Amino acid sequence: MTAAVRIVVKIGTSSLTDELGVIDEQVIESLCEQIVRTRDLGHEVVLVSSGAVSAGVAALGLPARPTDTPTLQALSAAGQSRLMEVYNRHLGARGVVAAQVLLVPHDFIDRRQYLHARHTLVRLLELGCVPIINENDAIANDEIRYGDNDRIAALVAHSLSADLLVLLTDTAGLYTSDPRTDPDARLISRVSADDPLLAVSAGRSGSNRGSGGMASKLAAARTASFSGVRAVIAAASRADVLVEASKDLDVGTTFMPNDRKLSARKLWIGFASLVEGAITVDDGAVRALTEWGRSLLPAGVVDVRGAFVEESIVEVRDVHGEVIARGMVLCDADTLRTIKGKRTGDLPAEIAHEVVHRDDLVVLA
Ligand code: GLU
Repeated sequence: MTAAVRIVVKIGTSSLTDELGVIDEQVIESLCEQIVRTRDLGHEVVLVSSGAVSAGVAALGLPARPTDTPTLQALSAAGQSRLMEVYNRHLGARGVVAAQVLLVPHDFIDRRQYLHARHTLVRLLELGCVPIINENDAIANDEIRYGDNDRIAALVAHSLSADLLVLLTDTAGLYTSDPRTDPDARLISRVSADDPLLAVSAGRSGSNRGSGGMASKLAAARTASFSGVRAVIAAASRADVLVEASKDLDVGTTFMPNDRKLSARKLWIGFASLVEGAITVDDGAVRALTEWGRSLLPAGVVDVRGAFVEESIVEVRDVHGEVIARGMVLCDADTLRTIKGKRTGDLPAEIAHEVVHRDDLVVLA
């Protein structure tokens, strides 16, 4: 018998519904059956399920998925309850109670909300329920929504100190190139925690409002790895995928966890927060931040983008535009524009001498 582990499993819209939004009962039944078997092995399972907006399209009998946000939000409300009805039925038939939890970014941003959400999820697990999470699309408007359940699943995995994050999708995992166009594409079965794949384009997740796609799965795997959580990307249609992933068998692409786990605060700065600007720094500052773990000073700043205020989260980029870190700024954008490039001795006394303190900086490169 393997040791009991806590598993967060996420399944995407394209695996759950067809293009008209009709829910695939067989997929949900198979998933519920696997969740119950995984629990019977002694493990705890939390499900993050997409598909609400899509199921809403079918619920209202629309010929195609609309594109305007208010309609999509309204559809999610109709679809979410239908989705839960199917989960309730298939888990209930196996004697397991499903429990719906809808989250918005604020629940990760506000520390008290964050602790509340965590307590509720832990209590649900203690009560023997399967928590089923989705973003609260009906009230999370476009400006403040993640729109991406891969990210939510990774953040939930961190907050619950999960052992494993399983991202179920419609491909078998991560390939060396696009398998639809390249016959030589190979499936990558393991990615180590120090693999450059987990460092490059780390900033992408900040602006990624669209859902799904490999980029958002890689970003989620990266968040998981930084959180000390093993992550797996695998095909939802693969037989026994969840049970086998819980046994650490190769079922897709596995991302090995980092042994250094970021604090909740740094994880939030690095991966959960909304980015409100960008600061470009010179090569000396890149070295100071990435190699020596220093704070960012005005002297190293060469360019400032955006209209951020004190305590906003910004991306820190090198002169080639590559995102190397994210951090919480100690001064607003206009002030920073007037002091960029200045040495500490030349700064007015009333201005913060650090742009981003090392304790508020997450190096991603
Ligand atoms: N929350 C959205 C839904 O349930 C999906 C977000 C995603 O695809 O990641 O429809």
